[in-house]
Amino acid sequence: MTKTNKGFDLDMQPSSLRILLWDIDGTLMRSTRAGSFKDYTIPMLEEVFGTAGRLPEMKVSGMTDLQIVGEALKHEGFTHEHIRERVHELRESYMRAMRKFTGNGEEVFQLLPGVREALHAVHDHPRYQSALVTGNIEPAAWLKMEILGLSEFFTLPGAFGDESHDRRDLPGLAAERIRRHLQMDLAPEQFIVIGDTPNDIECAKHFGARSLAVDTGRFYTTQDLVICEPDALLADFSDLSLFLRTLANL
Ligand SMILES: [Mg+2]
Repeated sequence: MTKTNKGFDLDMQPSSLRILLWDIDGTLMRSTRAGSFKDYTIPMLEEVFGTAGRLPEMKVSGMTDLQIVGEALKHEGFTHEHIRERVHELRESYMRAMRKFTGNGEEVFQLLPGVREALHAVHDHPRYQSALVTGNIEPAAWLKMEILGLSEFFTLPGAFGDESHDRRDLPGLAAERIRRHLQMDLAPEQFIVIGDTPNDIECAKHFGARSLAVDTGRFYTTQDLVICEPDALLADFSDLSLFLRTLANL
């Protein structure tokens, strides 16, 4: 199939395109050691705000990084505005801590089953294009993709965890950028959010996108996902043809 420089097949009708909005943690990859996220985010918060607040005892899966910081510090007198004002400093400190964490020579992240093959297959398929919609701050998201060798698959602009403390805002932000980038008027139902937590399903519904839940997260059960009524649910991506058949029906 010939793709244009924007990646789409020239003969493809815009209405048959589907944009895949991928979550990262628990969906594409996980930390080799559970809970290691806090190893670099606790010192980062202490550096920027002088305290990590409630972060040590929080369950953070599915939250955006800004939301995590907000929740961790809300009883310490920091509002969302205080945090937003220091988002630049937060980003710098976060990346310093993360580079130290990822640069120690150990394998700190691992790909989940079938992920590379799944991303490859949709990348080569004229009906699909991929973007990141993740709770990670943008530079952290791209560092993870670089370490895992996945950056090339995300050809469209996405939305990130330093843009909102509410994940429900992210699909709309990404969609706006993607429509502008492609110069195409894409309907919400042409977007498919792929993620491992109730918040991924919620943010898809909020925007009017489809959702494909994947049961590879560490912190939620299959039942937790089922009650949120995703449009589809897979155990993981290890069965490539099942993944492609599932997408074809969304
Ligand atoms: Mg996740």
